[in-house]
Order: sequence, then C-alpha cells, then structure tokens
Amino acid sequence: MNAPQGAPDIKALLGKVPTGLLIGGEWVESASGDTFEVLNPATEEVLATLASADADDALRALSAAADVQDEWARTAPRERAEILRAGFEAIVEHRDEFATLMTLEMGKPLAESDAEVTYGAEYLRWFSEETVRHYGRVSSTPEGTLRMITRYKPVGPCLLITPWNFPLSMATRKIAPALAAGCTMVVKPAKLTPLTTQYFAKIMLEAGLPAGVLNVVSGKSASAISEPIMADSRLRKMSFTGSTAVGRVLLESAAQNILRTSMELGGNAPLIVCEDANIEEAVAGAVAAKMRNGGQACTSANRIFVHEEVAQEFTEKFVAEIAAFTVGNGLDEGVRMGPLIEPAAVEKMEEFVRDATRKGAHVATGGARIEGKGYFFAPTVLTGVTPQMRVFQEEIFGPIAPVLTYRSEEEVLRLANTTEYGLASYVFTENIDRLWRMADGLEFGMMGFNAGVISNAAAPFGGVKQSGLGREGSAEGINEYTSVQYLGLRDPYSQRR
Ligand code: NAD
Repeated sequence: MNAPQGAPDIKALLGKVPTGLLIGGEWVESASGDTFEVLNPATEEVLATLASADADDALRALSAAADVQDEWARTAPRERAEILRAGFEAIVEHRDEFATLMTLEMGKPLAESDAEVTYGAEYLRWFSEETVRHYGRVSSTPEGTLRMITRYKPVGPCLLITPWNFPLSMATRKIAPALAAGCTMVVKPAKLTPLTTQYFAKIMLEAGLPAGVLNVVSGKSASAISEPIMADSRLRKMSFTGSTAVGRVLLESAAQNILRTSMELGGNAPLIVCEDANIEEAVAGAVAAKMRNGGQACTSANRIFVHEEVAQEFTEKFVAEIAAFTVGNGLDEGVRMGPLIEPAAVEKMEEFVRDATRKGAHVATGGARIEGKGYFFAPTVLTGVTPQMRVFQEEIFGPIAPVLTYRSEEEVLRLANTTEYGLASYVFTENIDRLWRMADGLEFGMMGFNAGVISNAAAPFGGVKQSGLGREGSAEGINEYTSVQYLGLRDPYSQRR
C-alpha cells in the first residue's frame, strides 16, 4: 500500500481511526470482546480490526442516547447550528484523510472520494442553516373558535442504519438533520465500510458534540444490533438506507412499536435518450449516471433507453468512452474505476452477463472479471437488452450498462415504469414539452433532465413505490426527525361572535 504523492500517510491515518464502539462519548470495547476485520477491496489486505457490538452493546448505546435526549432537544438552535458548522469545517479541513479512508475501505477512485467529501460535508452546512430557520405555523380554525399553533418537536432517539457505497454522505445525510432537529442517535454503519463513520464521529466530538448525542456501534451481525434497539420503547425513529429486501424486514420490525421510519431503498433507474437529445451531452450524462461509484449507487442508470433514430450514434460513442476506462486501485493516479465491494458482487456481475447473453444480448465492451488481487470487473456495455433479462429487472449495482432501443414516447414510458422501483430517472431531450410529458409519466421520486448527477444536500432525495418512504436533504429532510404538535388556544373573541 504505497501512498501517492501528497496523500496522507496511510498507516498514520489508519492509526487515527478509533476501533472501539462509541457509547456515551467514550470509545469502548464490546462487552463480549468480539471483533471484526475491515478489508481493502482493491488489495484484499486488512485495514483495521474493530470492536463488534452485540445486543448488550446496542442497548447500552440506546441508553446513552435516551439519557441525553431531553437535554439535547433543549439546546438553543444556534448552539446546534454552530456544532454542525464546526463539523462541516472540520471535514473540509481533513478532506484528504476522509477521501483516502473512503478509497481504502470502499475502493472508489480518489477523485470520486474527494467529491463525496464535498457532498457529505455539505449536509452539515445545509442543516446548520436549516436549524435556525425551522419554522412552524400560526393560523385560526375556520369557525374562529381557536388560534392554532403547529410546531415541530424532535421525534426522539433515532436508530440510523447506513450502507457501504457512500460511507460519508449516507451517514451525514441522516446524522446532520437528526442533530439539527434535536434528536440523539445510535448509528450502525455497514460492516464493510465503518472506518469513515468512526473517524467522522471522532471529528464531531472534537467539534463540540456533547457525549451521548451520537453513538456508533458497528458489528458483524446487523440484526443483533438493530433488533434489540427496535424492540425497545425508548426508540422513536428508524432511518435506513440500503436494499429493498432489508428495508422490508426492518419495516416489519418497526411495525411492532409503530416506529416512525425513513426508507431510502434500491433503484432501477431508466436513462432515456430522446431523438432530439444533444448526443454528446447524453453520452457524458450516461457515463456519469452509470459508472460513478463503479455503478454501485442507488441512482445508477440501470437501463439506458435510446431512440432508434439516434441509437447507433449514441451507442458507438458511449461504448468508446466506457472501453477507455482505466480500472485499478482507486489510490493510483489516472484510475477511473475501482474494485467492486466484495467477491459476491463480482460473481453477481458474471451471472448478469451470462443471463443476458444467453437471452440474446451482445457484449459491446467488457463482460468479465479482471483476474488478480482485488474484486475487479471490467466496465461493460450490453446491447440488444430486453425486459426478459435480469439486468432489466434487477438492481445491477455494478459497472454493467444495458442499452435498449425504443420507437415511441409511449413505449419508453411504459417500459421505464416496468419496475417495482421508483428512485432516480434521467431524460435527455432538447424539447421542453417532452420534458414535462416525461416528468408527468415517469413514476420516480427524482428526475435528471440533461443531467447525469442530481444528488445534492439542497435536493429532496427519495423514491416512490418500493424505493422507499420519506425524503433526505432539502427542507424536507429535517422534518423526518420531528413530530408535529398542534396547540389549540381559545380565541378571545369567539364568545362574542
Ligand atoms: P444492505 O441492505 O445489505 O445493507 C444496508 C445496511 O443495513 C448495512 O448497514 C447492513 O449492515 C444493514 N443490514 C443488513 N441486514 C440487516 C438486518 N437484517 N437488520 C438490520 N440491518 C441490516 O445494503 P447495502 O448492500 O449496504 O447497500 C446497497 C443497497 O443500498 C442498494 O440496494 C442501494 O440501492 C441502496 N441504497 C439506497 C440509497 C437511497 O438513498 N435510496 C442510497 C444508497 C444505497
């Protein structure tokens, strides 16, 4: 593991990342003494050994959060805002360390990790600003009998469960609005990429976050941590980002205590290139929407629909771009795509290609694993894809771009909506009327028009159908962590009317 010039010393950086559980402001060992290893997917080397939480640890973390909930809820909004702002400044100051950590544990190229530092830190800045501008409503009953105050109170202690694909931003997208709203929390990061969250929590403590407000418990068994916490009546809210399959299981558990939930689940995004699109822009947009994060994003373009009139031009240019990708260790200069997260992900890509080619698809580039150390798969374009293939029906979550051609707007809308998912979608067109027809017709929570990357702290991120419930970011994001309280005050003039 040689550090490129200018990058932090990796051994020294890993030495700064706490390896314990964060409970009540202290980094502690798990009660059982159990541990687990975190690997670098590019080299298969062990990066760190962390304490692995069990049910007792999980409940200790919830107790720590519940104990300081009232006190944290009563802090002045300005105080919470200043802590969030200090956290933002600290992440930016430690930008290179965060970027390197993400590349080490998740694999993405350093430039993409750096972009995630900007994106992830922005949630702290955005919600520091929202904290002091979180307004309620004053109104009257229509009959004039009552004056009504509608206010937002912190919902209470939260359990936040995050995935491995965006180790910093998926954590800050939950933690920042929860802190802003006045909630305390237990965070359970993905066991494949916990180091970024561990380091982030350390930075937040240094930025002035009081003990117990943010607790972090990683571990080998996710359900051993989440089940006891969700069964405990002190928990008021669970926010999850991950697969639809796990989301469904968690929603069932949440039903027992009628927990508030936010669910950011899987996607199967269509990317539609219309006959009137600017093809250069569409190619650039499709490359970004498909291959960012090695295709391991819930917003990743999963099905690329190209109008038959422009299919040849688009496909030739798109394939040429993808075929030119340099794949390798994300720390190395010039690498455009890193490894996949684990061996099972590589096997899944092989199965997808096998299934598609057996059913008539053509491999225009890539199509196979890259042998050697690390979990690498070549960036792949499949043409002649049909709805009968698994790559059409399932979330690919890897660097395979299925291309289909279509003839009419009606046909492409029907095909694009043929999925249980409804997260991101993309349309490339120069026609404003078509743009609005697409917006009306597409059953997706988010749409990019002539844009391949749409995530932003100021945007309400979330899906419809089986892609989830609730929104993160934007003004909507903070209210996921509040409950509405209505106060009805007798109107002083009501007797006289
Ligand atoms: P995953 O569902 O396997 O895991 C997500 C988190 O849930 C991890 O922390 C994991 O440890 C935990 N988990 C797994 N099983 C659990 C259980 N039984 N009980 C409690 N927790 C459990 O997902 P992943 O592989 O980490 O992430 C990829 C998935 O996340 C994809 O489907 C992707 O689309 C989705 N995702 C969605 C968004 C979004 O905003 N909608 C963003 C990023 C990723």
